[in-house]
Amino acid sequence: MNEKLLKIGQKLIDLGSLEIAEYEYLIDNRNEEITEFLKKEAVKKRKEVYGNTVFIRGLIEISNICKNDCLYCGIRASNKDCERYRLAKDEILSCCDEGYSLGFRTFVMQGGEDGYFTDEILVEIIGEIKKKYPDCAVTLSLGERSYASYKKLFDAGADRYLLRHETADKEHYNKLHPNKMSYENRMECLKNLKELGFQTGCGFMVGSPYQTTHNLAKDLKFIEEFSPEMCGIGPFIPHKATEFKIYKAGDVELTCFLLSVIRLIKPTILLPATTALGSAEQGGREKGILCGANVIMPNLSPHSVRKKYELYNNKLISGNESAQEIENLKNSMKNIGYEIVTDRGDIKEK
Ligand code: SF4
Repeated sequence: MNEKLLKIGQKLIDLGSLEIAEYEYLIDNRNEEITEFLKKEAVKKRKEVYGNTVFIRGLIEISNICKNDCLYCGIRASNKDCERYRLAKDEILSCCDEGYSLGFRTFVMQGGEDGYFTDEILVEIIGEIKKKYPDCAVTLSLGERSYASYKKLFDAGADRYLLRHETADKEHYNKLHPNKMSYENRMECLKNLKELGFQTGCGFMVGSPYQTTHNLAKDLKFIEEFSPEMCGIGPFIPHKATEFKIYKAGDVELTCFLLSVIRLIKPTILLPATTALGSAEQGGREKGILCGANVIMPNLSPHSVRKKYELYNNKLISGNESAQEIENLKNSMKNIGYEIVTDRGDIKEK
């Protein structure tokens, strides 16, 4: 094996930390041998913390209405072909009822930045879920909000918040987002979420337009320094109603390689094998688990709206992606040596 590559890989395993230039070298020069080596070590570390358990989250897509216009997103405001919807409180609660009986102990409310969902409305919904299901965690993924707003949601009982940073490079960020969105604000939101006490998740797309290896190396360094409790990464998949439709999809193998690297950076991290990974390639999700991921987020949204929450084309909405198919998902995990558990699935700090 390339001596330098092996040395960098070993340093990552021992310290969970590399210089940006080392991450860059690792990505650019990766080969089968180092990929297998890091994968094996990542799985070993994951098993030391979480055994062979896989945590599940019930994903409820509460609204596809969004005031933003991120260039990669299928539900961006300027997509006039997108049929918009938002779920009413009772519909969200019914999803939770169904999810609870299926064994879910975390509900993830995800949506665009829809002004309808004021702090007041969200506080009421979070309160009702927590009252009805005190043994469940509530995760929010509702975009950028003010510190005061995040505080109200946290005080209402929300446990976790997912906000992908998208890229840790300002110049790259500006190529993916319209002028009125800012890299600084995204980072400020993440900092605020962590400070408030949320289990905080960041994340990025692999293979997004204009992304360089240097950008990815900066993403890894950011994860190392920010030390999020969760990190969602998936391959970029183009959507036909965006100007990024001409770009090719991100690479599944590279995504899986980065999952192993992230597990080695932070062995306790909650790391999903994302829907995008499962959508990009059949068996992609299982591959992600085998590379060090430990979370899966099946869809609990009402069937009538699933097709409408299309962030990218060909998103999986049925089969093992569907919460109702949990038995199949359990079997597919069992077949690769893992076990889905009924558990809130909080981070286990060592
Ligand atoms: S990525 Fe999120 S914030 Fe951006 S347009 Fe899509 S739903 Fe809105």
